Amino acid sequence: MQLKDKVAIVTGAKQGIGLGIAMALAKEGCNVVISDIEQAGCETAAAEVEKLGVKTLAVACDVSQKKAVDNLIAKTVKKFGKLDILVNNAGIFPFVPFVDMKEGDWDKVLDVNLKSIFLCSQAAVKEMKSGGKIVSISSIASLVGFEGLVHYCASKGGVNGMTRALALELAGKKINVNAVAPGAIETPGATGAMTADMKKGTVASIPWKRMGTPDDIAQAVVFLASDKADYITGQILAVDGGWTSR
Ligand code: NAP
Repeated sequence: MQLKDKVAIVTGAKQGIGLGIAMALAKEGCNVVISDIEQAGCETAAAEVEKLGVKTLAVACDVSQKKAVDNLIAKTVKKFGKLDILVNNAGIFPFVPFVDMKEGDWDKVLDVNLKSIFLCSQAAVKEMKSGGKIVSISSIASLVGFEGLVHYCASKGGVNGMTRALALELAGKKINVNAVAPGAIETPGATGAMTADMKKGTVASIPWKRMGTPDDIAQAVVFLASDKADYITGQILAVDGGWTSR
């Protein structure tokens, strides 16, 4: 895979899909910057990832804030001297019926899920001086609708649009830009509060008849972040056990 000694930033990496991605990259020998909204969680996750024999850095960063994002990139380059891979993973998915949705609800989801990708990618690209890989975590909610998630579906649709446009702009710099669109994945954020009955209902709607794991998503990200995907750019890869093939 040739990920050994590369440097990757993973946002939202203290748990769930982000932590799965950080672990999978580390298993390939990639050094990983673990970033999330609070420092203690970053440090705990970084200690876990370091056990795999790579170097890590824990940096708290609210991905919707430019100053925090610029600090994340600066600290990465200060420690490692370069940046090869950016995984835009941090995201939120609060259910709110559309008629009750406040302007603040809309702004928060668009800021954390979409504006963040503008901020992180722009800052990262400036440091990817000899090429690089950007992989964003979209969602099947970018491809089909979900009730109660109008703002979320809009944000993830935006991620797909950005992925295609940015892939064109960055092709000349040898930076690949792709997205992975997960289906229903077992994570603290998504399934932590689900009852057994809710999980059963979700599983019933998945052709593969199981929920996904963070590692299911991480393996797709590792591939897209590797040299094996050098000729792939601007693509949205659904990893959903067949959900969107119906
Ligand atoms: P998760 O378990 O909630 O993990 C997301 C992490 O991001 C949390 O540690 C969270 O911190 C952090 N975070 C929240 N706001 C942030 C901010 N402003 N800046 C930096 N970090 C922030 O969620 P997940 O299920 O792993 O989801 C990861 C990504 O996959 C998201 O983009 C999500 O939309 C996408 N996705 C997930 C699924 C699924 O079924 N799990 C399906 C499709 C797409 P706190 O917990 O402290 O808020």
